[in-house]
Amino acid sequence: ATMPPLLSAIANAGRHGVLIKSAVVMERLGQIDRVALDKTGTLTEGAPQVTDVRPLPAAGLSEDEVLRLAAAAEHPSEHPLARAITDAARDRGLAFPSVADFASTPGTGVSATVDGRLVEVGSPERLPTSPSDGCPVADLVEQSESQGRTAVVVRVDGTTVGVLGIADRVRPDAAATVSALTSLTGTTPILVTGDNPRAAHRLAGEVGITDVRADLLPQDKVAAIKELETAGHRVLVVGDGVNDAPALAAAHTGIAMGRAGSDLALETADAVIVRDELTTVPAAIALSRRARRLVT
Ligand code: ADP
Ligand code: MG
Repeated sequence: ATMPPLLSAIANAGRHGVLIKSAVVMERLGQIDRVALDKTGTLTEGAPQVTDVRPLPAAGLSEDEVLRLAAAAEHPSEHPLARAITDAARDRGLAFPSVADFASTPGTGVSATVDGRLVEVGSPERLPTSPSDGCPVADLVEQSESQGRTAVVVRVDGTTVGVLGIADRVRPDAAATVSALTSLTGTTPILVTGDNPRAAHRLAGEVGITDVRADLLPQDKVAAIKELETAGHRVLVVGDGVNDAPALAAAHTGIAMGRAGSDLALETADAVIVRDELTTVPAAIALSRRARRLVT
């Protein structure tokens, strides 16, 4: 027997490096007319590196001590930024203790008890600042963000002790993917990210995206998708993180990045990119459209 068009499209997509979870998903992919792309781990390689460690002079900790505490708190996290921080500590030969009370808040950061002290690492916009922190923190954050980096603050027992600057490489096929998606849907994709607006706009400019939504919590990503769907659009979300899972679930179709993606994103998504290339996304959409023409 000849294979039904949707099934051969699934086989084809598999050869291109996208695992489509069902024939229904294969069909829905061809209906999408808007694409929302996550930043960290999706448009970027998700292998970010710590580029600068800036201790807050008033707190009196060394660069190594700031990094060591941050790495200890991040160690249980699977976020790409957490990997960057623990790798940087290991590169400097720093041993970090195991922690208690680890907690992570998607789109915000982590907290844990390290050597009896509460250590928090995360977004400068989201972590509460204490009056004692003052301007130096904002200045240090600004120094990193103005270079297109992601700044995260490190706090110990409620006081900021330092700022880490973290940089990630744009995927080599990001611009080509954005341009292919623009032709397929007749409009540019949207960047939806929890990162700061400066880093978001810089990356958007590099890959050809004009619609940028930054500083989003997981539920804000969902709201952005729902707004488009309410306006009659069918939205494809591509993401990798725990913070993307609600948006992947809310979207008409959700695709997760397989290699660096979180387990939750992989389970929630309708399809998974198993070859680590973004161009597989427009390829899968084109395959779906072709299969649909054969079905109808
Ligand atoms: P994106 O949407 O670009 O993938 P996320 O929503 O995962 O980004 O993260 C948004 C922001 O939240 C990060 O830029 C960082 O400031 C903060 N953040 C999230 N997780 C962590 C973590 N494990 N350690 C430090 N900061 C974090
Ligand atoms: Mg991400």
